[in-house]
Amino acid sequence: MEQSTLIKIAKEYGSPVYVYDAHKIEDQYKRLTQAFSKVKNLKIHYAAKALTNISVLKFVSKLGAALDTVSIQEVQLGLKAGFAAERIIYTPNGVSLKEIEAVAALGVQINIDSLDLLEQFGSKHPKTPVCIRINPHVMAGGNTNISVGHIDSKFGISIHQIPLLLRIVENTRMNINGIHMHTGSDILDIDVFLYASEILFEVAKKFKKLSFIDFGSGFKVPYKPNDVETNIEELGEKLTDRFNTFCKNYGKEITLAFEPGKFIVSQSGYFLTKVNAIKQTTSTVFAQVDSGFNHLIRPMLYGAQHHIENISNPEGKARFYSVVGYICETDTFANNRRINEITEGDILAFHNAGAYCFMMSSNYNSRYRPAEVLWYNEQAHLIRKRETLEDLIANQIEMEF
Ligand SMILES: *Cc1c(COP(=O)(O)O)cnc(C)c1O
Repeated sequence: MEQSTLIKIAKEYGSPVYVYDAHKIEDQYKRLTQAFSKVKNLKIHYAAKALTNISVLKFVSKLGAALDTVSIQEVQLGLKAGFAAERIIYTPNGVSLKEIEAVAALGVQINIDSLDLLEQFGSKHPKTPVCIRINPHVMAGGNTNISVGHIDSKFGISIHQIPLLLRIVENTRMNINGIHMHTGSDILDIDVFLYASEILFEVAKKFKKLSFIDFGSGFKVPYKPNDVETNIEELGEKLTDRFNTFCKNYGKEITLAFEPGKFIVSQSGYFLTKVNAIKQTTSTVFAQVDSGFNHLIRPMLYGAQHHIENISNPEGKARFYSVVGYICETDTFANNRRINEITEGDILAFHNAGAYCFMMSSNYNSRYRPAEVLWYNEQAHLIRKRETLEDLIANQIEMEF
């Protein structure tokens, strides 16, 4: 987006504010479908947890995407946004049998990731189609907090447990219609992804009534200039060939599914903050913004590096700053970053603020969660109001003493 547009939005809606560029969301969606255009039946489930604002869900639905959900509440939001139940997949972890049953009753495709729940569900509802989440034990990226395929991970049913899995399916006579994996964020190496896919194809062969294979996500997007990203086009070419061969041998044109979150919305987002003060200590020049990890926790939680631009002074001389927030504990956004010279009142734009940013925001320090704006058809649309004091106390019950 144009820096001048972002400045205007910050002026009109105040700061801090999240801004999402609908055109970028559309571009990313098209890029993915284009990369897999030679697959006859392709289904892109947008991973709702990255960004569930109802207007974003409606926009993604309009693009033609299906939806990936991890809680019954996300399912309900998806239905409210207009996704038909058949276009929603539910991939929870560690939820109750009761919740899975409630989601299945809505007509949503369920995906089960534990043998215990599979046996419980299969015994009671043998006719309901169920997808199985497999853990191929392949490390996708370097960070074990966001990589979920490793041996100690709580996600999926281990490929080493396939014999027991098959026994449960046979005993319950349940209906397995899909096989799934999600190796977690940050696939740097396509060959690793393809290797994990081979494992999934091997498992898939053992089931005769599949209608889809879901390869999850984990596509890496660039977070800073010259950053590595998953080469979707190359993956598309290689996996398409392999998938089409699989279908031929399987004797049926099944659906190839994905569940991208980050890939679809990360780069569409900008988080705009205002600089309250420049504070120079003996060792560091701090730029203190009107936000903190209450609004964007990824740098503190994952060490994520969000590119930061001073959009108020784009031509200014680059200097070193540590960008920090106003929370009363350490809340560093960036250490020793070269940013165009900053003065009080400048607007700093954090890039890649579309995925897992607003969604993880909180009211810590009793601050309001920011507003959200969708840039669509060359116009800014407010899609979430900034909170107020009423929101902070809405569910509190005041005692009298
Ligand atoms: C979070 C999640 C995704 C999306 O991952 P991204 O890295 O954002 O693309 C997909 N599938 C499942 C099951 C998830 O939990």
